[in-house]
Amino acid sequence: MTGFSYLKAKSVKEAITGLSQGNARVHAGGTDLLGCLRDQVFTTDMVVSISGLKEMKGIRETPEGDLSIGALTTITEVSESRIIGDRYPALAQAASEVASPQLRNQGTLGGNLCQKPRCWYYRGEFHCLRKGGDRCYAVAGENHYHCIFGGSGCYIVHPSDTASALTAYGATVEIAGPAGTRKVSIDRFFVPPSEDLTRETVLEKGEILTAIILPPSPGGLKSSYRKVRARRSWDFALAGVALAIRMSGNTVAVARIVLSGAAPVPWRPVDAEKALIGNVLGPDSIKRAAALSVSSAQPLKHNAYKVPLFRGMIEEELTDLAGL
Ligand SMILES: Cc1cc2nc3c(=O)[nH]c(=O)nc-3n(C[C@H](O)[C@H](O)[C@H](O)COP(=O)(O)OP(=O)(O)OC[C@H]3O[C@@H](n4cnc5c(N)ncnc54)[C@H](O)[C@@H]3O)c2cc1C
Ligand code: SF4
Repeated sequence: MTGFSYLKAKSVKEAITGLSQGNARVHAGGTDLLGCLRDQVFTTDMVVSISGLKEMKGIRETPEGDLSIGALTTITEVSESRIIGDRYPALAQAASEVASPQLRNQGTLGGNLCQKPRCWYYRGEFHCLRKGGDRCYAVAGENHYHCIFGGSGCYIVHPSDTASALTAYGATVEIAGPAGTRKVSIDRFFVPPSEDLTRETVLEKGEILTAIILPPSPGGLKSSYRKVRARRSWDFALAGVALAIRMSGNTVAVARIVLSGAAPVPWRPVDAEKALIGNVLGPDSIKRAAALSVSSAQPLKHNAYKVPLFRGMIEEELTDLAGL
């Protein structure tokens, strides 16, 4: 690891000032950052720790009825929160499936959204396109765990379980930076490689994610998160499916399907969502939506297995939510 200076910020303002200098990096729980620095995925001249900022911790209801989760809230706190379990069960489920108990105790929700990709070429000694090099090693290489949607020069999958659940609920993220604070819909927070394959989020220099805001959960909203991994112990998602469905009478009024382990960003198969809306949630509409969910998949040489995997998971999850 190359040397760097260290600032333990005492306020959000001090953190922003520190991060606006040189090549500084944010440290929250450190479970991803320290691995990246140790493995020289990137280097830094200053680490700015925000871990002591109490105002960025905890879960609270706002006067508008939203639920605001501080970016430094640990993943364990998210998975064990009664209010999240009752109103946003897909998020509690996704958080409970992140990594191991130790990592969930140390890792934060903000860090989970901002973590770096897990592509083994990127994490290894390969100077690939995402690191500013001239080629993607995954295209002709070992691409079993890479994306089947949205690859455009780079074929990572987004590594976060919670990102898909938050996207299913239409969350918003709050960002603080040198120019003040701004709110961004989570649908626009992650940057696909077709827009810029050297960055993963819209965060600009000096900016930090301060909170994640969930809109009120309307009565009758049913939601779930299901994850399949290569082994029963801790692991990233081979495939994850977050669903949020609300009925109006006996037809679907709201449908959000969000896939993890599928694309460089949490992936919404919008044609499948549209096909559900206005229809009865029955075996035929479910089969059709599951098929549409994967109709635009473009698997690489070694990951075509993900196409029937996602299709089957979506069909099963929708069937469960429909109570069929
Ligand atoms: C062995 C292992 C297994 C894992 N398995 C899973 C899994 O199954 N599912 C899953 O979803 N994740 C998994 N993870 C990822 C893990 O959940 C993340 O490492 C963790 O959530 C990161 O949180 P942190 O607070 O430790 O972030 P840090 O390591 O402190 O930061 C991570 C990155 O985000 C940036 N960052 C952190 N907080 C902020 C902020 N508030 N604003 C702006 N930038 C910020 C940092 O600069 C850094 O680049 C795994 C990690 C490991 C090491
Ligand atoms: S998939 Fe992306 S991160 Fe992985 S080698 Fe290719 S360009 Fe690099």
